[in-house]
Amino acid sequence: MRPAVLNPLFAPLRSLSGIGPKMAPLYDKLLAPQSAEARIIDLLFHLPNGAVDRRVKSKIADSVPGELGTFEVRVVAHKAGPPGRAKSPYRVLVEDDTGDITLTWFNVGRVRMEAMLPIGEIRYVSGVIELWDGHRQMVHPERVLDAAGLARQPAFEPTYGLTAGLYPRALVKASEAALQKLPDLAEWIDPALIAREKWPRFTDAIRTLHRPASLADVAPLSLHRVRLAYDELLAGQLALLLMRARMKREMGATRLGDGHLVKAMLAALPFTLTDGQEQALSDIKRDLASPERMLRLLQGDVGSGKTVVALMAMTMAVEAGWQSALMAPTEILARQHYERLKPLADQAGITIALLTGRDKGAARAQTLAGLADGTISIAIGTHALFQETVSFHRLGLAVIDEQHRFGVHQRLALSKKGEAVDVLVMTATPIPRTLVLTYFGDMDVSIIREKPAGRKPIETRTIALERLDEVANGLERVLTSGQRAYWICPIVEESEDLDLAAAQERFESLQKLYESKVGLVHGQMKGPDKDAAMADFVAGRTSILVATTVVEVGVDVPEATIMIIEHAERFGLSQLHQLRGRVGRGAERSNCILLFGNVGEVGRARLETMRSTNDGFEIAEQDLRLRGEGDILGTRQSGMPGFRLSVPEKHGELLVIARDDAKNLLARDPHLESERGIAARTLLYLFERDEAIRLIRAG
Ligand code: ADP
Ligand code: MG
Repeated sequence: MRPAVLNPLFAPLRSLSGIGPKMAPLYDKLLAPQSAEARIIDLLFHLPNGAVDRRVKSKIADSVPGELGTFEVRVVAHKAGPPGRAKSPYRVLVEDDTGDITLTWFNVGRVRMEAMLPIGEIRYVSGVIELWDGHRQMVHPERVLDAAGLARQPAFEPTYGLTAGLYPRALVKASEAALQKLPDLAEWIDPALIAREKWPRFTDAIRTLHRPASLADVAPLSLHRVRLAYDELLAGQLALLLMRARMKREMGATRLGDGHLVKAMLAALPFTLTDGQEQALSDIKRDLASPERMLRLLQGDVGSGKTVVALMAMTMAVEAGWQSALMAPTEILARQHYERLKPLADQAGITIALLTGRDKGAARAQTLAGLADGTISIAIGTHALFQETVSFHRLGLAVIDEQHRFGVHQRLALSKKGEAVDVLVMTATPIPRTLVLTYFGDMDVSIIREKPAGRKPIETRTIALERLDEVANGLERVLTSGQRAYWICPIVEESEDLDLAAAQERFESLQKLYESKVGLVHGQMKGPDKDAAMADFVAGRTSILVATTVVEVGVDVPEATIMIIEHAERFGLSQLHQLRGRVGRGAERSNCILLFGNVGEVGRARLETMRSTNDGFEIAEQDLRLRGEGDILGTRQSGMPGFRLSVPEKHGELLVIARDDAKNLLARDPHLESERGIAARTLLYLFERDEAIRLIRAG
């Protein structure tokens, strides 16, 4: 249960005085777009993005036009517009001993203005001065205060990210109220680390950020910010390590055979393994042989040959007397894997079967029976493989292909399908190191860096959409030379129907040029139709395949040498790289054409990156910089925990420290029972990683 000391922080924000039924929904929208109702903690974790200096620093004559300033002035004169014309401005002339400013308001009443700015009095006005006809003017000053008001106002006022209808001042006030609820919490960070880094306490850090005493306090790398980022990262690392400890604890089996099937399988392969593949396999072999459970992430760029590594790993498990399963993210990929692996498995004498959501009736029943009685050794499928109704005789290894959206929960769910199943996750996109630690910190990592020899580089060009017809006509060449082309249609925000319409339209326009040589595949097609369209393309009955992003991952057609992506600016970098990876798999030179529409700065940077490099790791790092982690990992869709206080690309070094700190703490206190351990539990609750606490059990 959550420690009672935290309860005030998890109370709804609307319980604060000053946040009424009108404003509450705005806060919900700003702070808790997914979970409906914002809580006090959400506001406290909504850190300022900067601060405004409200001190009186200069005389009017020294003011810089366009910059915000606060001035001490004497009120000289009022000048209202002609009566009855509400739209005309109300002006007040103010001065100091160096110059004057005209303050201007629209839609205000004389009575209120005269009360606020009595002639002859001293006032403090804050706002941006602009030059108008050579004269200083301030339109709608942000603040007009008397001396007492100025004394009450903080010298530095935090500024926050906002949403329409919420005003900066409201947020400042609300965060003040929220700070009142902040309890003092026992320290969970290693005291030596605190001393070395000179970090403030958690509560001090939060308080200072919302009530900064200088502009430096709110800077991204201020001690206060860094401390909070560290807290969040530490919570994440603790959660992952607890999870890892739990999964490892469940182990018993060593899975190692005599090598005869592995030998047969190697003989069946039409090529020899690359060094990277060999290395990954020896990592996996070691994991399988050890009594500890395998939790391994296999990273490799598109086309680096991860599938074969999966096949060999599954063969090892089968040889040791266990079943293996390979899960692909889509039906098309599952089918493709099956079709490629079946002949090899047949040669090696291993039974292999396909199971997807589409298999029904007698065939499905037969496959289920085979999995349950163990006559099927390798199962290939979609997530249907791990549904309730499927039971395995003796599942020993699960391989998850091309899957970022495979979160901690799914990893746990897998354990239910067998006795401490060994797990190998293969990622389609190389993941920057910091993100690996953040999201896969519970796993060991193997990386395949090189691609099989003899691959030709892919040449990438960016072309304006206006020249689409030219590009379409240019495909003539492809048809005559027996090569294939993909034509990827743009994704339209939030509407599969619109996606489809765009693909349909492109299909029809290309058909006018190339008739029956054009195929179409999209996400809403019925399974068998999809298969047929893919099969036509693989066999060369069609040469141009118009597709939505269903071909994004994994599909392998060596004859395909051209990848055209329409509205490339709408895709993420990693996604573009994945798509491009569909070509350049054969001996021929390949081309990728990125057709772009209106591009902003980020879009341009993305396209430029694609043009300049083929290195997936470099692209992933760029993607992280340009778009943020959520898009790379698909965390937004998957409900993986997001990060609010830390930014992987800024706080990467902290992550490594957090990792070690978490490791040391758990080594000394695996059940989090010491004084610091109990504080660490509070930390896990604070960052809502408390599911990890349930994983702590004696044993
Ligand atoms: P990815 O890592 O993107 O999943 P695949 O496993 O689909 O890559 O492999 C890409 C292509 O490379 C496939 O056609 C596969 O048969 C081929 N391949 C894999 N390993 C080798 C190798 N060692 N030598 C030659 N070709 C290989
Ligand atoms: Mg693959």
